[in-house]
Amino acid sequence: MVLTVPQAPDSEIHLYSRCGGERGAMITTLLEGNKRFVSETFEKEKEFFITLAKDQKPTVLWIGCSDSRVPVNTITQTRAGEVFVHRNVGNIVANNDWNLSAVLEFSINHLQIPDIVICGHYGCGGIHALVNENSDDKYIPIWLSNAYKAKERVDEKIAALHIEMDPELRMNLIVEENVRLQLEHLQEYPFVRKAMTDKKLKIHGWVYDMGNGEIKVVKMSGQPGG
Ligand SMILES: [Zn+2]
Repeated sequence: MVLTVPQAPDSEIHLYSRCGGERGAMITTLLEGNKRFVSETFEKEKEFFITLAKDQKPTVLWIGCSDSRVPVNTITQTRAGEVFVHRNVGNIVANNDWNLSAVLEFSINHLQIPDIVICGHYGCGGIHALVNENSDDKYIPIWLSNAYKAKERVDEKIAALHIEMDPELRMNLIVEENVRLQLEHLQEYPFVRKAMTDKKLKIHGWVYDMGNGEIKVVKMSGQPGG
């Protein structure tokens, strides 16, 4: 882990512990961070947080990967209260996932959220596991079976082109195709389809590039943009 951001001298211990030097140190770091949040940020913006505590009116539902390097509020420069969030391994929409089903129902029928974003990311460990199925894991392969079609579609396209594809490029194409596939799964929910038909909901497919911090819009088949 390389950290190049300049730090105050007293933060060196934190940096060390974040590199895994001391077992359990991160838990202390989190609680210390919360104390600083309360005394600095919360105090300074008390009115904002007190108003926010009464009600939430997020206008976007974010379905993203659990990966720690894709924190929605950081990469989109949004604040508490703005984005309703669901994250799982591989940003997957599975119709038998009651967790996501409840999130969707709440978002659309109660919060009346007008936009849903499914955001994948290059370098996704979930997609890597999907492509390299050689582990003893029990649950990860079951979960990733919901993304299997993305791998199949990309490999079919590559085979039809009769070309030798760079492995990283193939992986990136699967990441993008997985976003398209999960957008399709999303539209299998009748109440999602209805909200879209009633022009109350739009869905978008994005991919985040950890290498440069940029979000790329994934074009959906038959549409000019995501
Ligand atoms: Zn991921």
